[in-house]
Amino acid sequence: MQNALSGQFPAAFSPPTTDVGDLPQFWASFNNAPRRIQDAGWARQVTQADFAVAESVSGVNMRLDAGGIRELHWHLAAEWAIVTYGTCRVTTIDPAGRTYVADVGAGDLWYFPSGYPHALQGLGPDGAEFILCFDDGKQGEFNTLLVTDWMAHLPPGILASNFGVPEAVFGRIPTHDLYIFQGQLPGPLKADQAEVRSAEMPPNPFTFRLAGGPKAKQSKGGFIQIADSANFKAASTVAAALVTVHPGGMRELHWHPNADEWQYYVKGSAEMGVFNAGPKAVTTNFNAGDIGYIKRSLGHFVKNVGNTDLVFLEVFAANAYQDVALSEWLTHTPAQMVTAHFSIPADALAKFPRNAPGVVPA
Ligand code: MN
Ligand code: MN
Repeated sequence: MQNALSGQFPAAFSPPTTDVGDLPQFWASFNNAPRRIQDAGWARQVTQADFAVAESVSGVNMRLDAGGIRELHWHLAAEWAIVTYGTCRVTTIDPAGRTYVADVGAGDLWYFPSGYPHALQGLGPDGAEFILCFDDGKQGEFNTLLVTDWMAHLPPGILASNFGVPEAVFGRIPTHDLYIFQGQLPGPLKADQAEVRSAEMPPNPFTFRLAGGPKAKQSKGGFIQIADSANFKAASTVAAALVTVHPGGMRELHWHPNADEWQYYVKGSAEMGVFNAGPKAVTTNFNAGDIGYIKRSLGHFVKNVGNTDLVFLEVFAANAYQDVALSEWLTHTPAQMVTAHFSIPADALAKFPRNAPGVVPA
């Protein structure tokens, strides 16, 4: 008999008979992560402290209400994010003093390099929700460098000297951090941009349209959209693919030679099988809000086992998106060598897809 939790993992509860051995747990979820709830939003995270296998990427799920501000801050890891709902304003400045203010909506990305100061604010009518990734599995959202923490822990005389105003100006600054707090809705984007405009723009935008942009691969089974430093030039340390799989379709057998894959399941219902030497082959289930993680170069597939579209993210702490598709390899290797391995007829091999479809139909 299955309880509610094991019932969500039919593939782990009754694995395919081809599964063998074990792998470090590669499933985690935001759904059981405690939310830090503030006046104007909330955040929850899954770092390597909770998810041992996830060495290169940690994840945060954050909600900002309309006007809600994620306070001015910075951190050691680079930050990459995708908006999953609503609209949000991002502000940053680079070390050359070049400013950047932009509004992002569902399916849009932002990227802030390590150490760049930034802030976020939910816009009307209902703020924003987003998934944020750090390019270091140990980086947490709750140990970032907060501007209010610093100001509260400086002698007033130091503040007065630094800013050239009397100490009394700082008599009412908060004594502990704000983190997420309610602000006034900002004015038009153009007004904010004009107010802080620097002599030069940053060389590359810190935001990017992923879901609204072109499809890198498309088949009857679904499509893949890719953002890495080739098109989202600012994102020098994080590459990503947004994958849409129609019911019954499957993200084809493949691996990534250059980086571990951190996954976030946006919607739908999936079964993923992962392969390592050993042999080890383990299959488990993923639903909306869940996180998956596949070590570099381990083979895997992701099948849509629901009756609606499956949408998930593949995120890599890497400069470029790279994958190797099994079908492409086998169809671009001398046929006699391939058929000698599998005892399959040459005319069957000739029917394998030759163009690395990315997603295969049901
Ligand atoms: Mn941040
Ligand atoms: Mn993959």
